Amino acid sequence: MDYKDLANLIFPDAKPISYYEEKYAKRNLKEGAIVTRFAPSPTGFVHLGSLYQVAIAKKLAKQTDGVLFLRIEDTDQKREVENGVTGIIKSLEDFGLTPDEGMIDEVNEKGDYGPYKQSLRKDIYQAYAKHLLEQGKAYPCFATTEELEEMREKQEKAKIRPGYYGVWAKYRNLSVEEAAEKIKNGEEYIVRLKSPGNEEKRIKHHDLIKGNVDFPENDQDIVIIKADGLPTYHFAHAVDDHLMQTTHVIRGDEWLSSIPIHLQLFQMLEFKAPKYAHIAPIMKEDDGGKRKLSKRKDPEAAVSYYTDEGIPKEAVIEYLLNIANSNFESWRKANPNASLDDFELQISKMSVSGALFDIVKILDISKTVISKYTAEQIYDEAMKWAKVYDKELEQMLENKEYALKVFGIERGNAKPRKDISKWSDVKDNIIYMYDDKFDGIDEKYDYQKVQDKETIEKIVKLYIEKYYNENDDKQTWFDKIKDLAEEIGYAREVKEWKKEPEKWPGHVGDVSTVLRVALTRRSNTPDMYEIMQVLGKDSIKARFEKALKAL
Ligand code: GLU
Repeated sequence: MDYKDLANLIFPDAKPISYYEEKYAKRNLKEGAIVTRFAPSPTGFVHLGSLYQVAIAKKLAKQTDGVLFLRIEDTDQKREVENGVTGIIKSLEDFGLTPDEGMIDEVNEKGDYGPYKQSLRKDIYQAYAKHLLEQGKAYPCFATTEELEEMREKQEKAKIRPGYYGVWAKYRNLSVEEAAEKIKNGEEYIVRLKSPGNEEKRIKHHDLIKGNVDFPENDQDIVIIKADGLPTYHFAHAVDDHLMQTTHVIRGDEWLSSIPIHLQLFQMLEFKAPKYAHIAPIMKEDDGGKRKLSKRKDPEAAVSYYTDEGIPKEAVIEYLLNIANSNFESWRKANPNASLDDFELQISKMSVSGALFDIVKILDISKTVISKYTAEQIYDEAMKWAKVYDKELEQMLENKEYALKVFGIERGNAKPRKDISKWSDVKDNIIYMYDDKFDGIDEKYDYQKVQDKETIEKIVKLYIEKYYNENDDKQTWFDKIKDLAEEIGYAREVKEWKKEPEKWPGHVGDVSTVLRVALTRRSNTPDMYEIMQVLGKDSIKARFEKALKAL
């Protein structure tokens, strides 16, 4: 009996690996094209850190006319969540990161290198495990839970490095006959790699982000096929990324320490190893220290947070590119209106250590992104968001013509307003432009500098009775507010007042503020002339009257 017979006994139906090697044609891509993947477990949850990795992977694939595929790693069935794949795909879609191939819903996929769900690739892994068994590079291990427990205790007591390796690997040197006998007797087993590694030697690895690193060789006889016949993560990674022809593995740096195992697997399987880029996690400031952005502690760790808040996807992606490459910021300054597609991301410029998460920065980017939208785009996006998250806003936006006028205020010019950072801001941002809402809100009028009732009353009354004319153009409208200021003994020009402030009780700006607050109850609004144009005569008059009554 030899290794081949043993391999046949273990996996009698497995095909020769040549079958798979031939089945998947060489990818027909141009030189330098990056083939990469996102390989999550089907938990439905996408962490901002994962989105960061996918954004980078997608960008690199796109830049090189390569491929990004989605592979579902469901060999640990404990981690599975119902509709988990759909949840992940939806999140990627929400951020414009739909992969080029791979799973497209729970059961369907596209692409020629599938199946893209590991649980459907059992026969493939078994074929490669058999191939290793045939060469004596893997073996069946019959260790029971108790045996492994006993081994662990002994190692711990003796303060020896834990694990299944060397002399501790009890079933490593079983003869094929002994192993076959046990299998025939129905003893349970798993398949382990017969690691040729020596812990005292080091392997060198060049990581595209971390640079040159070295580790002790792996000498653990890691499990490759579990008792349920499914592969372990490590083994599946090697087989899949070989057959799917991944050129670059772009993943979180928590996997960096697995490099000795992965390189060893590629070597033993006689596969060319992909290039690796291990990305540092996004960090968060906490109690003066730094820690990873945490799914458990930070709501902003879930990408659904951004969708729920209504932060546009371009803003999130722009933020992620911003932390990916430090030269992004200067590129953006030089190209304020360029599409993100025009930015060339460089792996070599990625930071070795984790960037600090900064929500203020995200919202700031978002403000700029939204400021470039047309009123129509804002309307569409705010409406889409409102339909899911805010019925009241949805109802406010039903009158599209009016909403477009409201969103059009100070927009479409060289310096558009920058006061919306997320769709959940919109309601508060525009609510005072809606008469029925304005009437319903119980808010005080705060006239800022002008506090005495008489002056306020005088300003408002004079304005409606003498100066307001709905047909005035902007210049005339403003000149009239100056006239009003002069009439009540205020300075016509702020500049003049600044020179001799003791000469007047206030200036034209204070008068405008009174009018603005009377109209909107806010001292900080976009251009008042435009607001008045949108509100119209009846609403304006009613609002001034209301303000007078409230004095
Ligand atoms: N399934 C692994 C994870 O959940 C993938 C790691 C990798 O990209 O190799 O993170």
